Amino acid sequence: MEIRSIRGMNDILPEDAIKWKWVRDVMHEVLERYGFREILIPVLEETRLFQRGIGETTDIVEKEMYTFEDRSGQSLTLRPEATASIVRAYIQHYLFKTGKIEKYYFWGPMFRYERPQKGRYRQFYQIDVEAFGSNAPSLDADIIASLYDFLTALRVPQVTIELNSLGCPKCRPAYHKALKAYFSDKQSALCPDCKTRLVRNPLRILDCKVETCHELALNAPTIHEFLCEDCQNHFRHVRNYLEDLAIPYRLNPLMVRGLDYYVRTTFEAVSENLGAQSAVAGGGRYDGLVRQLGGPDIPGIGYAMGMERLIMILQDSLNTLSWPCDIFIATLGEKALHLGISLASKLRRMHQVCEFSYEPKSLKAQMKLANRLGARFSVIIGENEIQGKSIVIRNMETREQMFLPLDDRLSEKILALLEETP
Ligand code: ATP
Ligand code: MG
Repeated sequence: MEIRSIRGMNDILPEDAIKWKWVRDVMHEVLERYGFREILIPVLEETRLFQRGIGETTDIVEKEMYTFEDRSGQSLTLRPEATASIVRAYIQHYLFKTGKIEKYYFWGPMFRYERPQKGRYRQFYQIDVEAFGSNAPSLDADIIASLYDFLTALRVPQVTIELNSLGCPKCRPAYHKALKAYFSDKQSALCPDCKTRLVRNPLRILDCKVETCHELALNAPTIHEFLCEDCQNHFRHVRNYLEDLAIPYRLNPLMVRGLDYYVRTTFEAVSENLGAQSAVAGGGRYDGLVRQLGGPDIPGIGYAMGMERLIMILQDSLNTLSWPCDIFIATLGEKALHLGISLASKLRRMHQVCEFSYEPKSLKAQMKLANRLGARFSVIIGENEIQGKSIVIRNMETREQMFLPLDDRLSEKILALLEETP
């Protein structure tokens, strides 16, 4: 074939899409219990939004964005993450005036120009959760709890929350300085990217995936020696609440997250069986972001979860999911098809998944089709059935058959049979 999908952008075919649908069903259910409400945002934004919102020195803005000019010469970018867009919407629609904590969730594709590999794509999907309007540590704990509950409801194996505090604009500069001093001595051992990071944003080095940089980072000074009193108190409260909730967490002073806007609490959810791409979700507090994007000084916190990595971890447990088909209606002859098509429509209005053969086929071929569709039951309507005023219904698993009278109550009787069969 000549035209193929773009590298790193995948088709999700129905046999996999059913797994995605299940994850989304759990998402709606769990997150709405926490009071998050769904929000929808555009795929395209002005490039400036991400430059200002994510930060010029982040990997995303430096080298991963899909940026282009539209026909009017305006610079647009396919969203690489959702937080900046949701903050923009929050400001644009004056949602800070509602007099309550605004809590949102979102689901959709993100775009990053990365080197495609397992668990890393150029179009990937994220579930995104955000809350605005409070800097109370109980909100941090509640946000983390929603993430943990969500992953538990999805039956993600061996989830641990990695937790850190990144301090605030008051205490972080001293830490920057200390990191700069520490890594300056060891400059020659740093990867080329980290040499630049050393000048522009030394915190980023802690996040580097190159082995030699990672080893140096292990002995670097930690932020915890530099946190101001407010940040220390905030962090202590968050940890206490997490302990109340019995959420397993591990302190990771090297976790800095890939975005510049984070302050104080940052966290990642890791699953032991993801290997190199172990983080399935990550997030943190971004108290300065709303103001930075032109809104009032309102704190916020949130997280993003990668759908592909989630599905990867869940693969085995989701293999049993398939698209349901309750009933297949086999018809022989035009008269039977007239009856069959109306019966299908009645059963569908009764919330049953119902299929029939559009084309004339032998009974054998239609039964084969019923099996391919995974139908639980088949109804057979032919000339004899119409004359004898009764139809055959077959349990496709046990192959048991029974007759049902062909009258006005046929659809109700089929429904009763479906409901009493496990
Ligand atoms: P990584 O360190 O793996 O590059 P990140 O810090 O860039 O991740 P975030 O921006 O925090 O990731 O996005 C949150 C989640 O989105 C990640 O934990 C991951 O599950 C998912 N994710 C990020 N980038 C990709 C990608 N290119 N392909 C698939 N999933 C991704
Ligand atoms: Mg990344």
